[in-house]
Amino acid sequence: MERVAIFPGSFDPFTVGHESIVKRAIPLFDKIVIMIGFNSNKRSFFSVEKRAEWINEVFKNEPKVTVEWHEGLTVDFCKKVNARYILRGLRTSADFEFERAIAQVNKMMHPQIESVFLLTSPEHTPVTSTIVRDIIYHGGDASMFLPTALKNTVFKIDE
Ligand code: ADP
Repeated sequence: MERVAIFPGSFDPFTVGHESIVKRAIPLFDKIVIMIGFNSNKRSFFSVEKRAEWINEVFKNEPKVTVEWHEGLTVDFCKKVNARYILRGLRTSADFEFERAIAQVNKMMHPQIESVFLLTSPEHTPVTSTIVRDIIYHGGDASMFLPTALKNTVFKIDE
């Protein structure tokens, strides 16, 4: 059976930290679907279409990785794409506590699903989408926190 994992997140925007987790997970799975979790009642910084476009650019030469967006429960998306694994990254003990609860509840809702955690590479521990958004918003240079495939991308804020 094909080992399909989903990597759910807001990716607002997709950072070097996210990129590193996906790249390290590629040898572990047959297919990784990056799921942009999307909530029509909550305002995001970048549109879901832009976020998907940028992630597609990063993985355009990686046939195992695809991108979709989804509004609703992560476990429902797993059923939709036949995924048995949820991939997440862990930076800090705060991430661990947050992820533990989500993973345990997901397991109760859908017992066939396993959550798989990769520890962040040390250099990516401080990188968060929130900080990257702040740098972009204030006109700073966030390029060192963004995937190199996006170095010429203009990160225009959606009005
Ligand atoms: P969410 O809104 O679900 O937290 P994010 O887009 O912030 O979504 O993150 C998606 C996943 O990537 C989460 O598992 C998060 O812990 C992980 N992640 C975010 N930043 C990093 C990083 N710098 N290093 C490793 N994992 C990260």
